[in-house]
Amino acid sequence: MNIRAKELSKIYGSGENRIIALNKADMEIRSGDFISIMGPSGSGKSTLLHLLSGLDHPTSGSLTYDGKDIYGMSDKELSAFRRQRIGFIFQQFNLLPVLTAQENIAMPMLLDKKQPDIAYLNELADLLGISKRLTHLPHELSGGQQQRVAIARALIAKPDIIFADEPTGNLDSKSGGEVMEMLQNIRGKMGKTLVIITHDVRIARMADRQFVIMDGVVTENPVRS
Ligand code: ADP
Ligand code: MG
Repeated sequence: MNIRAKELSKIYGSGENRIIALNKADMEIRSGDFISIMGPSGSGKSTLLHLLSGLDHPTSGSLTYDGKDIYGMSDKELSAFRRQRIGFIFQQFNLLPVLTAQENIAMPMLLDKKQPDIAYLNELADLLGISKRLTHLPHELSGGQQQRVAIARALIAKPDIIFADEPTGNLDSKSGGEVMEMLQNIRGKMGKTLVIITHDVRIARMADRQFVIMDGVVTENPVRS
C-alpha cells in the first residue's frame, strides 16, 4: 500500500493558545518501508502518527492510501478501513483490563463481526512468546508481555501497515529490546510496512528511512552510507 501525505497540518486552539502541532508534512510511505520518526517531546510525533493512520483528522492537507483519500470517507467507512488495513501500537498498550490476552488480541476481528483466524493467532502468540499467557488478564502480565499482546492485536486482522507510537517508551531497556526485536522479526517474516516513533536513537537507526520532526516540521534524514 502506498501512502501519500500532502501538506498535512494540524492546528490546535486559537488566538494566544494556537499551536501548530503539525506544519505541512509531506511524506510518501511505500509498501514494505521501515520508517522511524524521532523528535523531542511535544514536537508533534503523536499528532503525525494519528493523522497518518486516520485516527484523527487534519486541519488541512490530504492523505491518500493507494490514491484513495481517506479523510473523504465517512467515519464508519474510515473505522472499518482502519480495522482491516492498519495496525496501531500505543505506548500505553491500551489493553482492555477485563479481557484475557487472547480476547484482547481477537478484539479487532470481533468489532468487525469476523471470527479470528485461530491458527494465525497462535502463530503470532508463538512468534511473540506469549503462547502460555493467552488466558491471563493484562494485570497478570509484565509490561513487555502486555506490549507483545498489543502487537498481536495490531496484527490479527493482517493489516498492511503497522504504526507504533513509542512502543518501548513504557518498558525497561531489556523488555524494550525484546519488543523491538520481535517487531522487526515479524515485519521481516510477514513483509509489513512499519512506521515507528521513538525517542531512542538506536531504534531510529534500525529503520531504512529515518525522519525527524521539530516543532511540527517533518524532514527526512539522508540515507546513511
Ligand atoms: P509528541 O508526541 O511529539 O510529544 P504531540 O503530537 O502529542 O507531541 O503534541 C504536539 C503539540 O500539540 C504539543 O505542543 C501538544 O501540547 C499539542 N497538542 C497535542 N494534542 C493536543 C490537543 N488535543 N489539544 C491541544 N494541544 C494539543
Ligand atoms: Mg507522543
